[in-house]
Amino acid sequence: MKILITGGLGYIGSHTAIQFINAGHEILIVDNLSNSKLDVYKSIKSITKTDFSFEELDLCETKALISVFSSFLPDAVIHFAGLKAVGESVEDPIKYYDNNVGGSISLLKAMEHSGCHKILFSSSATVYGVPEYLPFDEQHRLDPINPYGQSKLMTELVLKDWAKSKETNQAIILRYFNPVGAHKSGFIGEDPLGVPNNLMPFISQVASGRLEELKVFGSDYDTRDGTGERDYIHVEDLSRAHLLSLNNINKIDSIDYFNVGTGSGYTVLECIKAYEKESGKNIKYTLAARRDGDVSISYASANKIKEFCDWSPEFDLEAMCKDSWNWECKTSI
Ligand code: NAD
Ligand code: UDP
Repeated sequence: MKILITGGLGYIGSHTAIQFINAGHEILIVDNLSNSKLDVYKSIKSITKTDFSFEELDLCETKALISVFSSFLPDAVIHFAGLKAVGESVEDPIKYYDNNVGGSISLLKAMEHSGCHKILFSSSATVYGVPEYLPFDEQHRLDPINPYGQSKLMTELVLKDWAKSKETNQAIILRYFNPVGAHKSGFIGEDPLGVPNNLMPFISQVASGRLEELKVFGSDYDTRDGTGERDYIHVEDLSRAHLLSLNNINKIDSIDYFNVGTGSGYTVLECIKAYEKESGKNIKYTLAARRDGDVSISYASANKIKEFCDWSPEFDLEAMCKDSWNWECKTSI
C-alpha cells in the first residue's frame, strides 16, 4: 500500500515508518519539523536501506497538502502529527486546538480531495481523564482534564462524523498509554527538546549525567510503593500495533477505538530500579509533591486490540529500559 505518514519524523512516527517500510509498503512522510529533526529522515533511510519521500510541510497549509496528496495518491494515512505537551496546552490552548484539531481537519480535506478513505489516528489514554474504574477499557467515560486531551477527543469526534458520512470512509483510533524505549539500533528514539516532561527520558538523562536528579512526583498515592503507576509500552510494540491494525482495517464498519497498552502498570520507583539494573548507573532521585493533574494509576485493558488484529506486546520493562539506555548512550556522547 501507499501510506502517507503525518508527523513521521517524530518519536512514534519514525519507528512506525521503519516497520511499514520493512513490511514492503511505500511511504511518504509529511512533517513540519516543529518537534523533530531532519536527521531522523536520514536515520530511517539508513536503517531500512530504502529511499522514500519527505515533505517539510505544516498540515494546516491545506492547499500545499492537497497538492502533496494529489501527486502521491495514498491508499491510507497514519496521522501522528500533533503537539503533545500537557503543560504547554494549559498555557496556550488555542495553539493546541489550532494545530491538533485544525491540522486534522485540513488533513481530512486533503484526503477527501484525493479520494483517500482510510486513516489511523494517534489518540491517547488522556481522553479518559480520571479513572472511574481500572483497567481503562474503550467504554470508559471520556472526560479529558486538559486542553491537550480535549484536542485529542475533539479530533476523535471529527473523525467519527467523517467516517460515518460516507460508506467508504474508515477510521481506526488508537489510544496509546505510555510509549517508551527506542529502536534496537540505537539510531532513533525519543529526543525531547529541553528538559523532558516524561518520566523515562528524564531517567535516561539522569543516568547519563545530563541531568542531576529526578523528582518523583508524589509518594503518597494508593499504589504498591506510594508512587504513580502507569502502563508503559515499548515503542516497537506500539508501532507494530499500527501495522496489524491497518492490515485489518476492512474488518471495521466506519470507525473503531482501541487501547494500546500492555495491561499492567509499573510505579515510578519500579521504573527507576529497572533502569538502574539495565544501565548499571545509579539514578539519583528525591521524593517531591504530586504533580498537578496527575492520576494515581492508569493502565489499559488491551483485550480489544488483541481480538481485533492478534496484537499483543512482546517487550517487557527490562527491554524498554535496555533499548532506551542504548539510545541515550548514542545521543548523549
Ligand atoms: P513527536 O512530537 O515526537 O512527533 C510528532 C511529530 O509531528 C513531530 O515530528 C512534529 O514535528 C510533527 N508535527 C506536529 N504538528 C505538525 C503539523 N501541524 N504539521 C506537520 N507536522 C507536525 O510526538 P510522538 O510522541 O511521536 O507522538 C505522536 C502522536 O502520538 C501525537 O499525536 C501524540 O499526541 C500522540 N501520543 C503520544 C504519546 C506519547 O507519550 N509520546 C502518548 C499518547 C499519544
Ligand atoms: N513522573 C515523575 N517525575 C518526572 C516525570 C514523571 O515522578 O520527572 C511520574 C508522573 O508523576 C507519573 C509517571 O512518572 O506518575 C509517568 O509520567 P509521564 O509524564 O511520563 O506520563 P503521564 O503522566 O503522561 O502518564
